Amino acid sequence: VELPIHEAVLGRAAEFGDAPALIDGTDGTTLSYEQLDRFHRRIAAALVETGVRKGDVVALHSPNTVAFPTAFYAATRAGASVTTVHPLSTPEEFAKQLTDSAARWIITVSPLLETARRAAELAGGVEEILVCDSAPGHRSLIDMLASTAPEPEIDIDPVADVAALPYSSGTTGIPKGVMLTHRQIATNLAQMEPLVPTGPGERILAVLPFFHIYGLTALMNAPLRKGATVVVLPRFTLDSFLAAIQNHRITGLYVAPPIVLALAKHPLVEQYDLSSLRYIISAAAPLDAQLAAACARRLGLPPVGQAYGMTELSPGTHIVPLDAMHAAPPGTVGKLVAGTEMRIVTLDDPDKDLDIGEPGEILIRGPQVMKGYLGRPDDTAAMIDKDGWLHTGDVGHVDADGWLFVVDRVKELIKYKGFQVAPAELEALLLTHPGIADAAVVGRYNDQGNEVPHAYVVRQQAASDLSEGEVMMYVAERVAPYKRVRNVTFIKDVPRAASGKILRRELRERL
Ligand code: ATP
Ligand code: MG
Repeated sequence: VELPIHEAVLGRAAEFGDAPALIDGTDGTTLSYEQLDRFHRRIAAALVETGVRKGDVVALHSPNTVAFPTAFYAATRAGASVTTVHPLSTPEEFAKQLTDSAARWIITVSPLLETARRAAELAGGVEEILVCDSAPGHRSLIDMLASTAPEPEIDIDPVADVAALPYSSGTTGIPKGVMLTHRQIATNLAQMEPLVPTGPGERILAVLPFFHIYGLTALMNAPLRKGATVVVLPRFTLDSFLAAIQNHRITGLYVAPPIVLALAKHPLVEQYDLSSLRYIISAAAPLDAQLAAACARRLGLPPVGQAYGMTELSPGTHIVPLDAMHAAPPGTVGKLVAGTEMRIVTLDDPDKDLDIGEPGEILIRGPQVMKGYLGRPDDTAAMIDKDGWLHTGDVGHVDADGWLFVVDRVKELIKYKGFQVAPAELEALLLTHPGIADAAVVGRYNDQGNEVPHAYVVRQQAASDLSEGEVMMYVAERVAPYKRVRNVTFIKDVPRAASGKILRRELRERL
């Protein structure tokens, strides 16, 4: 796909005209396709007039709002690369990203302005802070709509130019800036599109953040490219999420496993009419097959389909096609998308390919593999080998029909006396206990120097007397001895990243 991302996504926007592109799920503010198209062009012109130059980095610092996509595509049309920033970043975290990405512009929203100002001060090098809404002393995108500057003619090379610079989640280490070109993102959209077709009349709920690659793709680029309507929620609460599905007659959900868990187990779900839903797709972290089935059964839906990817893969390589949700084996993350190659290799030798059914590291090669990590050539070289294979760091196996199953991350496997235990497997098992609301498992070294599974458990409200011993027994009765949970700590909440991943690193630090 040889188009800049704003063309690839908004190429048909004028044709969709008055149809709603975005609706604010809380106050109903609506942006039509015609407005999205006109507004982003106008603001692109104003940005260029302001001094944004091709190759500049614009930091987009905002929760999910109806204005977010306008700001994003305006910046890319002006020739900039957009680095999306977690709206809950501290000034120090934001400043790090500004420095790392050498951002020259910030686009924020008035409630976050103080954080943005502080971050810009700490980082230096920021020309101007713009706001999407309005704030005294700052130019707003709304004012920019009045600009009479001519539409810019920026020469964008989709193959070489970086459209987005999202940061990886930082689950395993420090978040790294991932350079994704226009072509990489647009190609991945085209690879995914036939598998989960969407279009006018479809209503997608954007509850996962746009700033993360999963939300940016599945909840923004993909639906807007096809004329669907995106209902945005700035913040996740189970109430507002369920209310939005009911009130906006949401047809499709892209979520992460914690939301599947809530849909399967939480009593609140019964109070809402979720009958408009036709499918649910989960990605970003391991989802247990039983949990997925329980969720689908409760809502009367086809099995929850999964997708697999990572920031470095623009982001997708696997998805369960919508028309195969019933046929797909439980637990699979899907089949490889077109134009992409995969290998499964042993953990100690990437030159040794494994057979069907054998778990090993997943390697990917294809047009969606990132350009590289910004300013980290060594990390890039460690990730992408000389033949172009990206080493995902994830363990998986594939069946005879090509369905991929992801076990866990290589780094998270607990190595116990030569055996390997996947925390995700134990977490899934713990969740089948009726008294357990949520769970996370990490490796801990015991007195003998062996790494053993340590479970963090959130009790269901009605199960406040659930004991450590009961939890350990429950697991011991169901797994081989080497997989037994050796310690249990009860906690109030499992720490998770915005994308829904368990922050096992944080739990390990607590030990
Ligand atoms: P960092 O690389 O900064 O440590 P991260 O890997 O969590 O953070 P992302 O790019 O957001 O950052 O996440 C990609 C990872 O998410 C994958 O490598 C994989 O471990 C996990 N993942 C994505 N989809 C699935 C899935 N369907 N099942 C299991 N794991 C998944
Ligand atoms: Mg990663």
